[in-house]
Amino acid sequence: MNEKLWYNFMEIFDNKDNLKSYYNYYLAIVNWVRKNKKFFKKEVLERNRLDVLLELDPTVYIVDNPDFSLEMELSRIGQDVPASINNFAMRIGDTLFELVSIKSGSNCPKCIYDELRYIFTVNEITSEEKVALECNSCGWTEYIDGGKWNDGTVKAIPASKKDLMRFGIIKE
Ligand SMILES: [Zn+2]
Repeated sequence: MNEKLWYNFMEIFDNKDNLKSYYNYYLAIVNWVRKNKKFFKKEVLERNRLDVLLELDPTVYIVDNPDFSLEMELSRIGQDVPASINNFAMRIGDTLFELVSIKSGSNCPKCIYDELRYIFTVNEITSEEKVALECNSCGWTEYIDGGKWNDGTVKAIPASKKDLMRFGIIKE
């Protein structure tokens, strides 16, 4: 892991504006990754969903109550230098994902400890769209009615509030 790259990332915290809102923080990270994309292999970006997360519109996707506070964020994300570039990408990807993924309130049936989150999927062959539930920790995916995912590989992005309304999962 190139430590210089990590300390360059940590400069995000030198600008207090970046921590004024979850929206600002999301954009600051995304802009940093875009600028430094050449340091991350394509497969590393994809494995950690950064290819998807860099393209989302934060005005649509930022959730109301992410699981971490901006006041504590420097000590949370910056606790140590990541062990590898993949580890670094994972830390960034998980942080961005936490900011844009809506939690379901149900725990993952496979690993138990993480909470399932809503994802929006598009089958690239049939173009069929679905909202499903996924565990970010172990990758478990299930249908909204609880059946184990059986659609094979699909393009998946976080589901927005609008998606959940469209599929009748939430009202208002
Ligand atoms: Zn799990």
